[in-house]
Amino acid sequence: MGGSNRVPGKASPADPLWYRRGWVLRVSCACRPGKHQDIPVTELLDRWQVSPSRAVWEVVAKLSCRVCKARPNRSELLSAADAKRNTIWW
Ligand SMILES: [Zn+2]
Repeated sequence: MGGSNRVPGKASPADPLWYRRGWVLRVSCACRPGKHQDIPVTELLDRWQVSPSRAVWEVVAKLSCRVCKARPNRSELLSAADAKRNTIWW
């Protein structure tokens, strides 16, 4: 986690979901090295009915791996374009 030197426009775990609508949350688990899952923020809001004011990190803390049920050991926010460029599906 970075400190005070945030890059303007760069995604932060403290961003509320509504601010990152259209972005993609990419999570991975220690049980599947090198693999990840992409979760569109719109899906969190519209399908899972997560409050738009929730911070990204709060959502990540509630996620669990579909294989081992552990929390994600890694997560990042990508713009939709970036996520499309390097998608590896589980
Ligand atoms: Zn796992």
